[in-house]
Amino acid sequence: MTRRSRFQRKLKEFSDPHLGRRMVRAVAQKAESGGRPLRFMEVCGTHTMAFSRSGLRDLLSGRIDLVSGPGCPVCVTDTADIDAAITLADLEDTVLCTYGDMMRVPGSRTSLAEKQAQGAQIRVVYSAADAVQAAASEPSRRVVFLAVGFETTAPGIALAVRRAAEKDLDNFYVYSVQKVLPPALRALLSDPEVKLDGLMLPGHVATIVGREALDFVAGEFDMPAVVAGFEPVDMLHGLDVLVDMALAGEAAVENAYPRAVRERGNRAARGVMRQYFAPQAALWRGLGKIPESGLTLQEDYHLWDASALLPADEAVQGGDPPPGCSCGEVLRGKMLPPECPLFASGCRPEDPVGPCMVSSEGACAAYYRYHREEY
Ligand code: SF4
Repeated sequence: MTRRSRFQRKLKEFSDPHLGRRMVRAVAQKAESGGRPLRFMEVCGTHTMAFSRSGLRDLLSGRIDLVSGPGCPVCVTDTADIDAAITLADLEDTVLCTYGDMMRVPGSRTSLAEKQAQGAQIRVVYSAADAVQAAASEPSRRVVFLAVGFETTAPGIALAVRRAAEKDLDNFYVYSVQKVLPPALRALLSDPEVKLDGLMLPGHVATIVGREALDFVAGEFDMPAVVAGFEPVDMLHGLDVLVDMALAGEAAVENAYPRAVRERGNRAARGVMRQYFAPQAALWRGLGKIPESGLTLQEDYHLWDASALLPADEAVQGGDPPPGCSCGEVLRGKMLPPECPLFASGCRPEDPVGPCMVSSEGACAAYYRYHREEY
């Protein structure tokens, strides 16, 4: 048996339906013994989608109520940053490269998809490296990469900047709306209206930052939390750990994803990230401007920073959300998507009002796809 097939077989064990069913029964029974539904937040959009797709959200509902958090990078990108990206796409001889999910996120006036239909040079790419490649093959044009994501993707984008620097490309730029999770979690947990019994933390972010970087959730906020993977058995294991802590009144940050997450994370990835990016204040949809929660290019690499291309009078301030859209409340776990008056009526995936209905990790998209018959 090859290494690859051994790995695939091992991974299959984490989505084993028999084991999953047994675990659902055990976790539900344990949660029920608390006498009231436990309210946990799955911080990350990948967990939001995985809970809905696997049926776990429905199977555990009433015993464990799961609400979504601010961990979908497309969803938390502020309207003002979308507007700035559209301004960049409008510049002469400029190609804007972005991930597909960003295309239909509405800005205050239009979206990148609409601009593309009007003739703007906007391309969907799969990675920052694709944008570097485009810059290398089209030296007469500026190529701007719209960098969206968390700690998980930042090291790869940093390596793309390294590649651009090595190739001496003076037509490659990054417009960074990248974010880091810990400051946003602090902002979220400082809000007295956010009532939770525990947090499920994203395994992929923790793979980079390490479990101990998330210890503050318990230390500063007395909140139980668990780092979990994304297969059904991973998530059930995470919930089991969280239920135990919530019922015992204990607060700790446990690692239920040890096959990927280490105490101190991935030092090499953090090193390359720090070499190219520095912390800066960032705008978060639903959470506002949070100090040190974004990533901008380090001073040494400012020549690649697309912010300098924006007109001076177009400083990026917090933008207004689309009228009637409750993404801000959804991203803070204060509202479930079907509680938004526009859900499935004025707002659908084919005609979205807010980013939570656009993103493949958005809570509204997950509810529309997997739960809308229930509401
Ligand atoms: S259903 Fe649409 S309008 Fe309502 S919160 Fe979600 S994305 Fe925004």
